[in-house]
Order: sequence, then structure tokens, then C-alpha cells
Amino acid sequence: MQDYLKTVFKTIRTYGLVEEGDRIFVAISGGKDSFCCLYALKKYVEENSLDVDLRAFHISLGLKNAETIKRIVEKQCEFLDIELVVCNVKDYGIDLEELRRKNRPVCSACGVVKRYLMNKVPRELGANKVATGHHMDDFIVFFFKNFLGKNFSWIRKFTPLVKSEHPKLLTKIRPLFHVGGKENEKFFSRFNLPKASPELCPFFSLRSKLYEKTLKWYEMLYEIEKWSRGFRRQMISSIEKFVVEMKESGKENGAKQKFIECKLCGELTSSQDGVCGFCKLKRL
Ligand code: SF4
Ligand code: ZN
Repeated sequence: MQDYLKTVFKTIRTYGLVEEGDRIFVAISGGKDSFCCLYALKKYVEENSLDVDLRAFHISLGLKNAETIKRIVEKQCEFLDIELVVCNVKDYGIDLEELRRKNRPVCSACGVVKRYLMNKVPRELGANKVATGHHMDDFIVFFFKNFLGKNFSWIRKFTPLVKSEHPKLLTKIRPLFHVGGKENEKFFSRFNLPKASPELCPFFSLRSKLYEKTLKWYEMLYEIEKWSRGFRRQMISSIEKFVVEMKESGKENGAKQKFIECKLCGELTSSQDGVCGFCKLKRL
């Protein structure tokens, strides 16, 4: 437990993820990773006696089992004595069931909605940073997938700290950048708390193939780790170095997104027609 926290605290310190006066919203899904992220941030703030406003933020999709997931999230937050902010996508005019009935790709819509609300709602409530439970294994798998797909526009995002580039965009922090899924699982298991599994979403079957593939990637990482100890740590540290070198050489400048404000809602978009993905979904 101490080793785990030591690793996470080192990431927080090295990258200056938490600073005096911060107002951080931690995106929490009910899963183990986001709980670990919230736990570690709370401990860090307490141990360093920082004046930081830390809140949990949950996006409820308003689907079957949403209440079950919300109760799990509430239990986790009660355990940590952290204020929880819940936002329901239906209150923002999005009905995923309706989109499904219209044969729209509901999981990609879900991604658009979550990304949009995860920036807009905390910002409007005074946050300056949003934290997520993405971990080392996630980043290594993203790296392989994007590298194989020759998609290099992601480069700047493979870091524990993605600084805001616009007043309407929150800084993103990933305190779990140097710990993996297994470490989170082990850490989480000590608390005897409930957790939400991805299968609780009624649309999980639409995503199950992709989910299985991702699990296979994770298995591969752990398989390599069996005969090459420290493989994941080496990999993530090489990715970090690669990102820094790309930034220093200016080669990642072309990957910078150019933002404009959405004609309908005023949030940021890089869409050519000036209407953000969220507003397009609302119009469907
Ligand atoms: Fe969203 Fe996942 Fe459910 Fe798809 S399966 S709607 S991505 S929560
Ligand atoms: Zn919009």
C-alpha cells in the first residue's frame, strides 16, 4: 500500500499535478481505477496539508442500472468523506436510449457526451483541473494502438499532465500514470468496497468485442512482464521520454488542436462547421 502511494505521490510531485489553491474534480465511474485516483489524491492533499478543493464528479447516463452505479459511487465517496457532484446526461438533453432506437452509434455518442460534460460541468462549478483514473497499462495500450495506426496526433496527450490551452479547457491530470491495472486492483481490494463493472451498462454488448480485445492487450503486457521484469515501467518511461523529446524538438506542434467556440453552445470544438459533437447529438 505504501509503495503504491509512494509511486503515485512521486508522479504528482514530479509533474506538479496538485498545487496550492487547486479546485480538482475527479471523474469517478464506480470502478476501481477512479476510486484509487480519488483515494491517492485525497491522501496527498491531507499529508501535505494543502489548501485544495477536491470533489468527485460522476456522469450518470440515465440508463438501466444507473441508480445502482450511482449508489456504488456514493458509497465510495462516503468512505472517503468526499463531496460528490452527479450530473445526469438527460438533464443536458441527451437520451442514449433514444439514439439507440434511431440506430445511432451509441457508444461513440457516450464518449462525446462524457468528454463534453467532464470539461463543461466542473469548469462551470469553479474547477481548474479534472483528474481521471487512466493508468499505465491504458497508456501503453493506447501507445501501441496509435503507433500501429500511424496516428501521431495523440503525442502531447501521453503524459500525466495535459495543460489547458484555452480558458474554456480544463487542465487534465492522470495521477495513476505510473501504476497499472493490476496494482490498482490490489490496492482497491483492501477496502472491501463495491465496484461497478462495465457490464452494468445495458449497451455493453455493443462494446464487448472491443473490450475483449483491450483485455487481450493487457494480458499481452503482463505476459511479457513475466519474462521481462519491469517491462511496463520501462515502456511507460520510454513513452514519457519520447513525448518530451518530441515537444522539445517542436515536432508535435502540428498535432496541436485548433479550437473555436461552438456556434450553438459556446463550448470548444475543432469541427469545421463550427458546431460541436455534443450539439450535433442533441439535434438528432
Ligand atoms: Fe457508454 Fe460503455 Fe455503455 Fe457504451 S457500453 S454506452 S461506451 S458506458
Ligand atoms: Zn455545442
